[in-house]
Amino acid sequence: MREFVKRILEIYRPFRKPMLMVFVFIILDQIFILLGPYIQGKIVDKIFSKAPIMDVFFLALLSLALFFINTIVSGFFRERFELENIDFDIPKFISIKVTMAKIFSFSIGQHCNQNSGVKQSIIDKGENSLTNLTNMVLYNALPMLVSLVFTVIVLLYMSTVLGLVTLIGSVCFLVISFYLNYSMKDELKKFQDAGHDSNKVHSEIFRNICMVQINAQEKGVTEKLDQKIGEFGDLGKKVWKKYVFWACLRSIIIGITRFLVLVISVIYVYKDIHTAGQLVMFIAWSSSAFGRIGQIGNLHRKGTEMYIAVKKFFSLLDIEPEIKEINNPVKIKKPKGEIIFDNVSFKYPIRKSLEDDDKKEQTEVSSESEQETLSNVSLTIKSGQKVAFVGPSGAGKTTVANLILRAYDPTNGKILIDGSDLRVVELESYRESIGVVEQDVSLFDDTLRYNIVFGLEGKDINITEAELGDIAHASCVDKFFHRLENGFDTVIGERGVKLSGGERQRVGIARALAKNPKVLIFDEATSSLDTENETVIRKSIEKASKGRTTIIIAHRLSTIKNADKIFVMENGKIVGEGTHRELLTNCVVYQNLVNSQI
Ligand code: ATP
Repeated sequence: MREFVKRILEIYRPFRKPMLMVFVFIILDQIFILLGPYIQGKIVDKIFSKAPIMDVFFLALLSLALFFINTIVSGFFRERFELENIDFDIPKFISIKVTMAKIFSFSIGQHCNQNSGVKQSIIDKGENSLTNLTNMVLYNALPMLVSLVFTVIVLLYMSTVLGLVTLIGSVCFLVISFYLNYSMKDELKKFQDAGHDSNKVHSEIFRNICMVQINAQEKGVTEKLDQKIGEFGDLGKKVWKKYVFWACLRSIIIGITRFLVLVISVIYVYKDIHTAGQLVMFIAWSSSAFGRIGQIGNLHRKGTEMYIAVKKFFSLLDIEPEIKEINNPVKIKKPKGEIIFDNVSFKYPIRKSLEDDDKKEQTEVSSESEQETLSNVSLTIKSGQKVAFVGPSGAGKTTVANLILRAYDPTNGKILIDGSDLRVVELESYRESIGVVEQDVSLFDDTLRYNIVFGLEGKDINITEAELGDIAHASCVDKFFHRLENGFDTVIGERGVKLSGGERQRVGIARALAKNPKVLIFDEATSSLDTENETVIRKSIEKASKGRTTIIIAHRLSTIKNADKIFVMENGKIVGEGTHRELLTNCVVYQNLVNSQI
């Protein structure tokens, strides 16, 4: 818990000044709140002692003046510190400086293995809870505590017995709250995990909604979601039922304490130890303090949920990035595009899933898969060469591409880019020199232009219309361009839904080309296309590959027949390399592949 609080304070460190000012305001506010009953008590005493009516009016006016001063002071603090520095800046800071900074430090491989629905759910709940925690602590818990402490001090000062009764009542209340928190932490964690689980199912349905409808699985997935939400609800009911019971107990303690304060005050008045006015003060102060503390039941429930959500969020932030840049990495300024695999072996890491547990060590890599995905792969791709990787499914072709992108580091051996080990190369400049076209091109629900120049965003590179035209020509985007109502400014819909499969591929190629990369990787860029589209894409690959190192991963041999060199892979090994003609005579695996496609 101490570690948890330390971390939260660390996150809020940049906001400590405005928060301190808000705290000062809270103390001022509480003083004003205490002054109200004090003046009311004095008014009662004046009336009972038959003081001149003007004295009573004066106190009433003083009360009004204090109210105005408090309103103005609180308005100033709210505008100056809360609005200006806290309310909007903290969520922004958490989202950008805490979450995004961490998320982008994970390797591509790590992202592939984390369920995006669960990740999103942990981040959303964590960020919201961190923000709400500030509001709760600043605007509920702190005023409540300050009010309680002030009330106890004032009551102790005016009457030791009343002060002690209030103190004992408050301590019992807080002890019950902490005990409740402690005793229910496991059940609450299960409850939150069930929440992430149902969010995962929910987001998977939305991500694959068309596929669900195509397969007429609406009923099936709704039942699954119903079951998950049901499990979440059942756990919630169990947990909150206990809360309700303990909340009743706490309310009883408050009720008894308030009753005792009333009875003791009345006895004091009857015994002439205190005046009727002081009776009014005691009752008003204890009502105000205990009225606030009464809300703690609700705050406590929310606070506990937030605590678990933030802990889970922290466990995500604790995951170590698998790919780390060394200090002073080699910056590839003018890449030539020569790639060498030097005896590279690779096993995919096996990780526990995010929802498994929130212990730090269990969210990191737990082991490596038994079998090597790549075994002792050595190869050289010369600068400007057009090479292809072919082989049966699961042979390890995409893994080769992933390693070139440094989505993972090899388990053994090394990969050299222009003579430098990839582990010492600066990632940003390196990835800027690579263009990748995948089988499923990721597209934004934005304009065609935005999707093409996406790789240049924030790079201060302005692409002219003429250059965009050249890219469209090289990628064959110009072949369907005339059909778009607003040309490059046409919004292409979610995941490019307004485009055909072949058109999406061409946008992917255009995006890769816009970066003017030295290395171009096509990973199954033609496998989902019909023959006509494949011919178009093949032509655009031909055009795009000029002057660049080009790596093509393909099942269809027609796409790669005229590559300078073809690497044939099987079971993670290179089992043949050469031109199409050479391989036809000396590589059995290649011959089998050719035969299977006739
Ligand atoms: P295909 O032609 O079907 O795309 P491929 O030759 O490109 O296959 P890879 O995608 O490189 O093959 O996969 C090689 C092996 O590694 C496969 O057995 C696959 O199951 C495994 N694999 C791929 N990605 C992962 C991953 N993220 N975690 C664990 N294993 C993986």
